[in-house]
Amino acid sequence: MPFFGFKGGVHPDYNKSLTMEKPVETLPVKPGDKYYLPLSQHIGAPAKPVVSKNQQVKTGELIAEAGGFISACLHSPVNGKVVSISHVVHPMAGRMEGIVIEADETNDEFVPISDEGTFQQIVQRAGITGMGGATFPTHVKLSPPKEVDSLLINGAECEPYLTCDHRMMLEETMKIIKGAVLIKEKLRIKNLIIAIEKNKPDAIKLFRKYEKEYGFELVPLYVKYPQGGEKQLIKACLNRVVPEGKLPVEVGVIVHNVGTAAAVYEAYTERKPLYERIVTVTGAVVNPKNLRVRVGTPILTLVEACGGFVGIPKKMVMGGPMMGMAVTSVETPVMKGTSGIVVYREEDMPNLTKYPCIRCGRCVDACPMLLVPSIMDRFVKKEMYEALEEHHVLNCIECGCCSYVCPSRRTLVGGFKTSKRHIMQMIKERGAKNA
Ligand code: SF4
Ligand code: SF4
Repeated sequence: MPFFGFKGGVHPDYNKSLTMEKPVETLPVKPGDKYYLPLSQHIGAPAKPVVSKNQQVKTGELIAEAGGFISACLHSPVNGKVVSISHVVHPMAGRMEGIVIEADETNDEFVPISDEGTFQQIVQRAGITGMGGATFPTHVKLSPPKEVDSLLINGAECEPYLTCDHRMMLEETMKIIKGAVLIKEKLRIKNLIIAIEKNKPDAIKLFRKYEKEYGFELVPLYVKYPQGGEKQLIKACLNRVVPEGKLPVEVGVIVHNVGTAAAVYEAYTERKPLYERIVTVTGAVVNPKNLRVRVGTPILTLVEACGGFVGIPKKMVMGGPMMGMAVTSVETPVMKGTSGIVVYREEDMPNLTKYPCIRCGRCVDACPMLLVPSIMDRFVKKEMYEALEEHHVLNCIECGCCSYVCPSRRTLVGGFKTSKRHIMQMIKERGAKNA
């Protein structure tokens, strides 16, 4: 399989050595521990509670059902009691409606989901969402509106610090491969590609062994951020370009993260709902680890399992440092899409003093979407949303490469994120007017 690559991107310090050789440890459930489950763990409509306060629940039992097609079911991560249905901390929204469950016993068994219905219905019932961070409900991606000829399994893990996918590829290889083959067969997809960045030679070697037997192509990827972005991956592996505002299905491709493929396998063959995942806890903690944790576990519990903070934490990021989000509370719970917790001290933080743009063009060279961030930034400052739309800001994948390379330390991506929301609203209003 040829490798086509993509233009732009950056080479940040990967800092993966802290955890890349640490096998996954399971964080035990302790009676009395509380689990916080926001009803919105995914892109789309929030789930709707189907339990009431004081109700006893078992691990894997449905506690909130999908609130529509683009939504995901939510299951209890433990055996315990529903102690409240009110507002819980949410990494993006601050606080939002959620369910709190207090564990009353340690339990490794789970309530299996029913095996009735189609493949997609089983995946939907298991509450699977993308595990790479985007949290799109998986059954939606598995119901493509057009013909798909290629399934791409994303094992790039190009974000610095994170190693949860790497460890999963080493420790749960067959689950990933069998999950990928299952999706390929159920959707009658012709090509199956598993793509892994070259900085994981042990994973590449392992997958290579099964390439012929399971009928997939292994593509080793250049080590470059954002190699794991869907659009970059499709360009690098298949030389296809996803049009602006469209999804990969437009060019006949479905992309799933390695963790998602394994979760689909578990749902279909073991009837296991998604209530736990692997999280890399790293940076300024005493003993950085890869932990298998129940969804809803507060960050503080993870940090304590890693021996506590080193020094005084200045910033905590959920996800990777390039695309993750800063969280302000140690009560923030692990969500289905949480791949990592990265802790920084004051001394780890870069100098954030901003200077005027010197028109050096580095941001333009770094942008993997071929945009012109420096000009877009000027429009952001003047709130010129029409001009931003014309300069294709909606194509921005929010990768942060432009901000990363800017010698004037301009926080470009933040302005693009906010502007995209304004423009989406503008487009909606325009549509309503023209209807
Ligand atoms: S954040 Fe947007 S504008 Fe900046 S480099 Fe990434 S895609 Fe380009
Ligand atoms: S990298 Fe920074 S200083 Fe250089 S052109 Fe872009 S915004 Fe201006």
